[in-house]
Amino acid sequence: MGPAVGREIVGKLYGLLARVGAMRVTSGFRVVVGKGVVLDGGDGCSDVACDGPCDVCGEAGAGVCGPSMATLLFGRSLPDVRIVLCEGCRVRVWHRGLWWLTAFVVAVVLGVGGAWGVVVVWPWAPWSVGVVGGVVGVLVGFFVGLLVPGRTRLGGQGWHGKPARVVAIGENGWTVDVVSGALAARLRRRGLEVLACDVVEHDVVPSLVGGIVAVVLVVGVLWWSWHPEVRVVNVMDRPLEIVVGGRSVAVVPGVPGEVEGAGRMVRIPRGWWHLRAQGLDGAVVEDVRVLVGSGRAQLFVPGSAGHCFRVDRRAYGQARQPRPGSWELPQTDRFHTLHERIDGWFEPNPVVGSSVWLSGGVRRAVRHSRCR
Ligand SMILES: [Zn+2]
Repeated sequence: MGPAVGREIVGKLYGLLARVGAMRVTSGFRVVVGKGVVLDGGDGCSDVACDGPCDVCGEAGAGVCGPSMATLLFGRSLPDVRIVLCEGCRVRVWHRGLWWLTAFVVAVVLGVGGAWGVVVVWPWAPWSVGVVGGVVGVLVGFFVGLLVPGRTRLGGQGWHGKPARVVAIGENGWTVDVVSGALAARLRRRGLEVLACDVVEHDVVPSLVGGIVAVVLVVGVLWWSWHPEVRVVNVMDRPLEIVVGGRSVAVVPGVPGEVEGAGRMVRIPRGWWHLRAQGLDGAVVEDVRVLVGSGRAQLFVPGSAGHCFRVDRRAYGQARQPRPGSWELPQTDRFHTLHERIDGWFEPNPVVGSSVWLSGGVRRAVRHSRCR
């Protein structure tokens, strides 16, 4: 792809943004402020008095501030260009900042909501489809964000953030876009080269950043919590096929005795499901309707009549030994929701004093044995 094609795409995109009112072009100036140039008069107010006229509208100034900064330059140093703003213009800049935050939050919420909607409509959707739902949500959030007040001045035209913005940092210093004639004249008086040019302001960054946050949230955290793991342990002497809501999710080999780490982890979407375990010949061994995802650990033990499961708890270090130290899971249940963190499966907790568990705390292990 040549640079001409890239420019054409950017041009098309800008045209589209301008049509929905998300981009404005204002006649302004471009200044390169060198690294060594000192504009600050030492009192924090450059060569203007702190109460000089507002650089935007000419009203009595109420304070000074630095220029704003392109998002990609966030965290870099700013040139000491000072802008004088009146009370009204300061409020307007604040509103623009609040709008930025609101549009960002809307994009995050609708992005996460879009992915969640996919999970509700199609619980078994692969995560990539969830991400597509999230991106669609962010796009909707972008248009909703455009309706939030504070983004533009009345009439929808003109510059709405601070009247100076750093758009690039290079060898020669900071490139600053200026939309205030008064500020441009002041910089020119300081001997800087000020060129007249069109200055572009667009409103895609909060939605873009919010969208990236939403996708990272969905992919990094939420997708896995929406599809919790269930440990399926087959204690029979033949393999069992596990069917969830009519969908075969795993074939689990039989392990009749207690074997450390036994079982197959299966991710099942949150909610009520029919869990069915059947032999490879199709004979149903177990069929239960259960709520998946309400606890911290879940155990499915089809065909486990005569087998007992319990949780052993042992304290180490300064921790107090919980009572009871051991409790049985209900014998008649085949699906167990455990509301405690489980640290070990089908292995004894190390004895106190051994070097295995040094940091202290309570360790919990699920054990399996034949019922007495
Ligand atoms: Zn003003």
